[in-house]
This record gives sequence, C-alpha cells and structure tokens, in this order.
Amino acid sequence: MKKKPLCNVLLRNNYFESSGWCLFADVVFDHKVKATIYNDETQLNVNRILSCHNNKDSIKLLGGMQDQKLEQGRYATEMKALLKLCTDIIDKKGEEEVKKKLEENNGNIGLAVEKMIATLLNSNSEIQDEDPKTKKIEEPIEDKINEQKTEDEKIEEKPSDKIEKKEEEIEEIGETKPGINLQGYCVNKDCLASKAKLLVWVNIGFDAITFIPDKTFYNCPNCKQSTVASVVKVLFLDSEHSICDNDTSLPTKSNHYQCYYSIKFGLTYQLQARKILQHAINLEDLITRSENAILSTEIINLMIELQKHLITVVKPLKVKDRAKLLEQIHFDYGNDCKQAFDVGRFTILCDNPTQLQSIMTVIKKAEQFNLIVSEDEDFFTRQSKTHYRFHSVKLYVPKYDVYVEMQATLKKFTTLEGYSDIENPKLSHLFYEYIRGWKPSNTSEEELKQASDVTLIKFNDIICEWIDEKEIKKIATRFKPHSEIRILKPPQLKNKTEEQINASNDISLILTKFVYDQLCKFNPIHLKGKAIYVILFEYFKKYIMGEMNPASCADVVLILKNQKNKN
Ligand SMILES: [Zn+2]
Repeated sequence: MKKKPLCNVLLRNNYFESSGWCLFADVVFDHKVKATIYNDETQLNVNRILSCHNNKDSIKLLGGMQDQKLEQGRYATEMKALLKLCTDIIDKKGEEEVKKKLEENNGNIGLAVEKMIATLLNSNSEIQDEDPKTKKIEEPIEDKINEQKTEDEKIEEKPSDKIEKKEEEIEEIGETKPGINLQGYCVNKDCLASKAKLLVWVNIGFDAITFIPDKTFYNCPNCKQSTVASVVKVLFLDSEHSICDNDTSLPTKSNHYQCYYSIKFGLTYQLQARKILQHAINLEDLITRSENAILSTEIINLMIELQKHLITVVKPLKVKDRAKLLEQIHFDYGNDCKQAFDVGRFTILCDNPTQLQSIMTVIKKAEQFNLIVSEDEDFFTRQSKTHYRFHSVKLYVPKYDVYVEMQATLKKFTTLEGYSDIENPKLSHLFYEYIRGWKPSNTSEEELKQASDVTLIKFNDIICEWIDEKEIKKIATRFKPHSEIRILKPPQLKNKTEEQINASNDISLILTKFVYDQLCKFNPIHLKGKAIYVILFEYFKKYIMGEMNPASCADVVLILKNQKNKN
C-alpha cells in the first residue's frame, strides 16, 4: 500500500514570518516544494533549517519550547504546535502517534519531529522510487503542487540532501578550481548574476596576487566582463598558500586542500597559491623522506583505520626496487623530483563504489592522525586526462616534510600487476609508460603521440567502464586473433635487433615493436581483453602500418582477391 506524504503545505513567502517550527515543517515535511520558491531571505532560512535538521543539539533552539511542563496537560503546547503543522494529514490515529513520539522523547519537540521526519522521508523515498507516471494518478496532493510549477522546476525536485547542494548552486555562480578562488559581486547591470545579487566565484589558479577587496576588476564567470568589483571571500583549493593583509604583518600559511577566508573591506590583501609539490632537494632525499613517512606512526595509524574496511592496500615500492624507481622518475620528470609522488604512493583497491566512498571519508579525516589533506582529486566521478579512473588524495606528513599519495580505485579497474582482473594488464600499463614522458621531435612523431594518447583513453574507457558493457561488446565482436589473420611485421622493424631498437631512444620505434609484439603474443579470452586487442590492432593498422597498407595476411589475401575481381 502506498503511504501518503505527511504534509502538503505549500511554502510561501509569508510562511517565513511565522514561527520557526512552522518553517521547519514546511521545509522538511514537503521537500518537493521548498526548492521552488525562495528569495535571498528564505534561502537563508532554508539553509539554517537544513543545518539544524542535521544537528540534534541546535534543533532545540528552533522550537524554544523545551521548558519543563506540569504533569497536567503534559506536552499540551507541544502537541498543539505539532498538530498545527500537520493538520491536513494527521487523523485521530496520527494524533496518537504524535503523542507517543512526544512522550518517548520527554516532550522534546525537536527529537519527536526529527523521528517523524525520518519516518516521513523514508515513506517519501518509497514513493519517489516508483514510476512517476503512475505516481501522478495516485497522488492528488502532489498534483496540486505540481500544477503550480513549470516543467523545469519539476525536474529540480530532488530528495532533501540534494537540495542543499542545489541551493548552493543557485546561491553561487562560477566554478571553483585548484589555486586561488575569489568570491564577489558582479556590478554589470546587464548580468543576471548581478541582477539577482548572486555571489560569483572567480578562479585565478596558481598565482600571486594583490587586491583591495572593494576595488577589483575580476572577470565575471557569467557575463565574462571585468565587472566583479568587490571580493568578500577567498577559497584556496589543492595548494600551498598564504594570505596576508596590511593590518597583520604575518601571513597565514597552509597546505590544507580547502581553506576559506573572509575578506574585510578597507584592507589590502596579498595572496599566493602554489601547486602541491615535494619539498625534497633531490631524489635520494625524496626517497629517504618518503620511506620515513611510510613507516611513521601517523601513516601506520591511518592504515590501521583503513584496513578495517577490508580493502586491499598496495604499499609503495621498497628499497630493493629503488633502482627501478630512480630510473622511472628520471624518465618521467627529468631531474625534477618535486613532481614525483610515486615514491610514496599507496594504491587502495576497493570492491565497489560505496566502499571507495567510505575509504575517502576516512582519508579526508586524516587530520586526526596529524596528517594534512593537501590535495583532493576525484577522477573517479569525473574523467582524468587519460581516463584512468581513481580518487587521489595527497597527504602531507609534517614530521618529514613530504607528501604521500593515497590513490583509490576499484579492483576491477586496476592494471597494477598481481592485483588486476584485466587480462594482460601490462599492455595498457606499459603503453602508458612509453607515451607519458614522450616529447615528439617532428610532425610524424607528434601525430603518432596524439593517436597514442587517444588509444590510451580508449583502453581506459574499456578497463574503467566509462563506456557500458554493450559498447564494449560491440568492439569485442570485431576481434580476430593473430593465429587467424597473421599480423605483418612493420617495415620499420626490419633488419633491427631488439638491442638496437631499445638503444635507439626512438620512442616511435620502441612503441612500434611493443605494439607488434603484443598483437602477436596476446590472445585474449574475456570481453575487455578482446576489446582492448581490437583497439590496439586498429591503432597499429592506421598509425603504424598506414591505412593504405595491409596490416595482416588476411588483408593481403583481400587485396589480391579484389585485384583478381578487377581483372
Ligand atoms: Zn557578471
């Protein structure tokens, strides 16, 4: 049987002049309504109420009716208040329920309402899960509400937790990105952000700037004019930063990944934000610091906490692999070790997205272990440049002045050898290693590099499931094994030994050999493996052999057949 929502009161501006409780009911009891109507003032209230709803202590402040009552007419006022809120839907039986809830909570309206809301939200979510078409017929109350909304507003109907985000989006315009972000007001009369008196975020990036908060000319993200004339707030994201005003001589410094500062008019501010980089002076120093950090109590305590979630943690490489590590870092970053985070990288492998989310929550609370969360990159929900899918957090270990990285992904997405579910994980992994540090020296190399980058993205789309199973299947059906089509050896490799190729330092040549070898050796059985093989073969055919040339014996046979037909 379908449950009715407990309340169908429409939220109107005049409600905000009534008591806090009335507000509370309107907003939370019928969260479908609250997103549609508000001005600046109501929005503030909605925010306040939602935050109170999440906080048991502050809920009492809203009602202000928690005084001890006499035994006679126990909780009469509270009952009256609650019933007034819910007149439309509380029948006699419901009245008993309210009374029961009040008694259970010693007359604390806050707690009673909260419990009722919990029940209500549960019943609402049940309704929302159902087919919206049938819902309309069976829910006359909601129909009435919906009639008063435009189509767009209907789309905005979301459960209460999402609305809070929606409000933020409405309240603030512009995207915050790593580096310095300034929040202020646009004064362009033609700008919608300005008309609605909305705060806009301006991203400056990694830079050093000086400004007088009420005399600025920053670019408005909405109207694109230099009309953000005042700054009221600063947000530093994923950076080592400092902020200083001419009133206080000492700058405030931090490397916490997310720091807000409010700005006072009448002062001059100096801001600086740098990308998170290692502080080590050379590679040896970096390795020593990282190894100390990995064995520190701080990291070990965090690990103990993480292990409770039954995940797989792959610890960074040990000293015995130092030579390999040095070689790799040298190859990737030249002599600049400041960008090297591989030394102290933990890979966390989770079973499912929910587990990954819990893990990130634990890591983000690393402050309790005297670690500083300095960078937070979510490439799990949005795509990274290579489409490799992970959520990474850089933790600063103050004791050793070094950053370690926690990179979390799903077990089924990793290409880490010994941990991967993917057939032949080395294929995409080595392919990536060959091309990532490659600096092409001519146009044909540049072309191959670009094609390789695209191919890597296609690999990761398959491995990390950015494309769905249906699409993976579609690619995999084109698979034909080497044993059937006989791949031809690229002419570039003729008369060259493996040693000569490796010693050549010619990445396009090394890559050609790698791709050819892989196509000859790799015999995939599973869906993802087959799809990856197809992508690699198509890359080989188009960019290594050349589209006009045969790439396999099967191609040669086809060409001969066509010629015969022509003759
Ligand atoms: Zn504007």
